[in-house]
Amino acid sequence: MGNRTVLVTGGSGFLGSKLCEELLNRGNDVVCVDNFYTGAKRNIRHLLSNPRFELMRHDVSFPLYVEVDEIYNLACPASPVHYQKDPVQTVKTCVHGAINMLGLAKRIGAKILQSSTSEVYGDPAVHPQVEEYWGNVNPIGIRSCYDEGKRCAETLFNSYRIQCDLDIKIVRIFNTYGPGMHPNDGRVVSNFILQALQNKPITIYGDGSQTRSFCYRDDLIEAMIRMMATPHEITGPINIGNPGEFTILQLAELVIELTGSKSELIRKELPADDPKQRRPDITKAKEILNWQPVTPLRKGLELTIEYFDALLKEDPEFCRS
Ligand code: NAD
Ligand code: UDP
Repeated sequence: MGNRTVLVTGGSGFLGSKLCEELLNRGNDVVCVDNFYTGAKRNIRHLLSNPRFELMRHDVSFPLYVEVDEIYNLACPASPVHYQKDPVQTVKTCVHGAINMLGLAKRIGAKILQSSTSEVYGDPAVHPQVEEYWGNVNPIGIRSCYDEGKRCAETLFNSYRIQCDLDIKIVRIFNTYGPGMHPNDGRVVSNFILQALQNKPITIYGDGSQTRSFCYRDDLIEAMIRMMATPHEITGPINIGNPGEFTILQLAELVIELTGSKSELIRKELPADDPKQRRPDITKAKEILNWQPVTPLRKGLELTIEYFDALLKEDPEFCRS
């Protein structure tokens, strides 16, 4: 698995930076491409002195020419707050980004993996979600720039496979959290932990009865690397996530318990089209990748709380950025 040159788009983001680190640890050369839309230089600072690591500032919605063996396409804001800020750019990143990276893969004969999302299932009517489910997505809602962008990217990947026999892999990632999340990420785990650590009110959107399944970062990265190593005929899409399902209220209570916080819970309006339930069926990942998550939510939250606690003390400026 080592000795390859690997391109990671979105490599300075939460997941991308950990993926770069792990690929370097396994003996690969890594080219990290990012336009720093939501990524942070501090995520990859520790990699910059590694001679096998290269950083390029580039927007994937424009063509890119590099010589690599494998491409992990992660470039895309993942938090609703950020992907909704500039919906046109989100669609461009998803669609033009996929076209550019697939064109590159075709030209140089590289394997290419797409980080798709459980959002392709929308507000799912099938529970838990299996890969065969086509989803329930509003094409013109506030989440559609991301949901439909990612769905179109899957279509593009599959079309390049059919038409050009490209070596493609698609993973559908379910809510993933962990150290390295940006303090202003806006997703639920980082919001709740930062609020709890500062004894600020914890913002529950809606009545908190909606569910999510939370996967720890390191478990997710392992599954992605295993997926890239599968033979040509394995293309996915494959669900990757932790099947443990929790309501948002349960998550808030657990974060309060683990931080010993005095925070109160406050209600905020539920955003439009917010999925009511989400849990991956990971039968395929177990069978094909011989993988399942090993980090329970409590343990993963403890590690993430430690990270944010240290960050608040070391870099309060960054936490306000
Ligand atoms: P993130 O926002 O931390 O990272 C995304 C990275 O992509 C950032 O570094 C950002 O600057 C970069 N980026 C955005 N647009 C770009 C562009 N046009 N050109 C180059 N770089 C660009 O998010 P993350 O959680 O690390 O997510 C990484 C990938 O995983 C995304 O594709 C996301 O859709 C997917 N995903 C993540 C989750 C999750 O829960 N973390 C769930 C489903 C899917
Ligand atoms: N959420 C919340 N409070 C917050 C942030 C999010 O109650 O401060 C809820 C949100 O409405 C959703 C769930 O938590 O039901 C997960 O939201 P997130 O933005 O993390 O990701 P999503 O799975 O919705 O893309």
